[in-house]
Amino acid sequence: MDTHLRYRPGVDTPDIKTVYDFTREKGIVRAAEFCNGSGDCRKTHLSGGTMCPSYMATRDEKHTTRARGNVLREYLRKPYVKNRFNHNEIFGVMDLCLSCKACKSECPSGVDVAKLKSEFLQHYYEANGVPFRSRLIANFANLNRLASIWPAIYNFTVSNAFAAGIFKRISGFATQRSLPLLAKTTVGSWFQRHQADLKHERQKRKVYLFNDEFTNFNDAGTGKHAVLLLEHLGYEVILPEHAESGRAHISKGLLKKAREIAINNVMSLREIISEETPLVGVEPSAILTFRDEYIDLVTDDLKLDAQNLGENALLFEEFIVREMKKGHITSASFTTDHRNIKLHGHCHQKAIASQVPTVQMLSLPINYEVEVIPSGCCGMAGSFGYEKEHYVISMKIGELVLFPAIRGKEPDVLIAAPGTSCRHQIKDGTGETALHPIDILYQALR
Ligand code: SF4
Ligand code: SF4
Repeated sequence: MDTHLRYRPGVDTPDIKTVYDFTREKGIVRAAEFCNGSGDCRKTHLSGGTMCPSYMATRDEKHTTRARGNVLREYLRKPYVKNRFNHNEIFGVMDLCLSCKACKSECPSGVDVAKLKSEFLQHYYEANGVPFRSRLIANFANLNRLASIWPAIYNFTVSNAFAAGIFKRISGFATQRSLPLLAKTTVGSWFQRHQADLKHERQKRKVYLFNDEFTNFNDAGTGKHAVLLLEHLGYEVILPEHAESGRAHISKGLLKKAREIAINNVMSLREIISEETPLVGVEPSAILTFRDEYIDLVTDDLKLDAQNLGENALLFEEFIVREMKKGHITSASFTTDHRNIKLHGHCHQKAIASQVPTVQMLSLPINYEVEVIPSGCCGMAGSFGYEKEHYVISMKIGELVLFPAIRGKEPDVLIAAPGTSCRHQIKDGTGETALHPIDILYQALR
């Protein structure tokens, strides 16, 4: 009974300096120790849920949530060395974690491996340098801003098999992947012209739209639909000044830069965002940084502001449902045509928020029927599925539930997916076009 225990009495838990605030968890070692070994993260896709996609696809203990908790606990408790994170063994176990955050909500102990992985990468790269591809991905928003000066040239280059092939080989992206294209006009520049053209009276209800880097540069059509839909429903839409979300930096482990971005956004938005004037987001992985990572990234003096901001940062669907409940939005604004929709929810939405508001929003047109696909992670997970060494497993994850469900649908059934990378994965994996729920609702306006 008293042998092979995890710890012996009198062993100290080291106090390790981190970029994220782990006060709630009582330090990063305790955060890794949340794992009690129950093995719920060894579920298969047949059990439903999202945790843990890399185990579901490999059936290898090394790629479970538990393995990630175990490896960190082992190495972080070793006798003092300059950088406790500098071990290739940890990197090997963390490598297939898609940072989907499913463990944060589905693991009985709430082990948050996405947070642990980002913190690990920050320290590992401090010792070993940041790889070129990670820098490229982290600077996605800046590069897109530059390329958006001549989007046609960029789009031609990334669509041209020869030029794109060279770029993908040099940068370490899978050659089988198509790369995201740039919109001809960003949401920001369109909105400036649109505002100048607006002649309607000032509306009583105001809403701030978080023009995230994915919507602004790549999915501008959806961003415009979000603005037009809200205006049609009687809201004044404001695009406030803000920085990018920092999602790419967080997922690549460049946490010090992510912290700067979080501080910037909290300082720019804290005075204007409130329950009456919320911040509404299109891309779940971007807007949910306010509810999740920012609170643990900002300095102590900004914590309260970050928390308030997080409470009033809503998914577009959450905002619409909130307004439906107040009677401000009703089915009368929408078509009575019949439509069937299959919905694939975003992992971060499932973990930090819920898919229910998306279903409720899509059911506003009285004859729209929404079926939730019992899929977990789509396998793309931001940049994960684009990376050449992750391409095969990314497609394998997609094939577990999502791709077969889409291939089996009737031709007139719409596919809804709020996540930009989910929509890309659906296109690459099945050839079908998935729409953001905002696009579907916009098209359903009377
Ligand atoms: S990570 Fe969570 S689900 Fe997996 S073994 Fe540990 S406690 Fe159980
Ligand atoms: S974040 Fe997702 S992929 Fe990573 S350990 Fe948790 S459930 Fe698994």
